[in-house]
Amino acid sequence: MTDCIFCKIADGRIPANIVGRNDAAVAFRDLNPQAPTHVLVIPTMHLSGMAEMTTDESERAVARTLRLARDIAAELGLAENGYRLVINTGRDGGQSVFHLHVHLLAGRRLAWPPG
Ligand code: 5GP
Ligand code: ZN
Repeated sequence: MTDCIFCKIADGRIPANIVGRNDAAVAFRDLNPQAPTHVLVIPTMHLSGMAEMTTDESERAVARTLRLARDIAAELGLAENGYRLVINTGRDGGQSVFHLHVHLLAGRRLAWPPG
């Protein structure tokens, strides 16, 4: 999608601190980290949010995105102490960028319930 900031990061049109990729997803550091480790993991295909996960191709893209999140967490040494994966969805979910993304948060004890 031409005007989507995360599509631009996925295809290199704007810079980001990339931490990993697979065949369908890319992971990069959040610009405004909320925890010692805060990585965003996105499908390279544009899906505005969970509601657009309606086809086999988009379901696979989201599954590959979760797979990359898991792999990055392991590579960064987070598996032992644990981490949180979050997909903010819509207004009440706090979504501000409308390209589906998984937040990978770790490095401190995260509160529950979230605010
Ligand atoms: P949301 O609020 O939609 O769940 O999360 C969007 C996230 O994207 C926020 O944590 C925000 O800091 C991050 N973000 C927004 N613009 C950029 C950007 O241009 N580069 C990076 N690396 N992160 C961004
Ligand atoms: Zn996009």
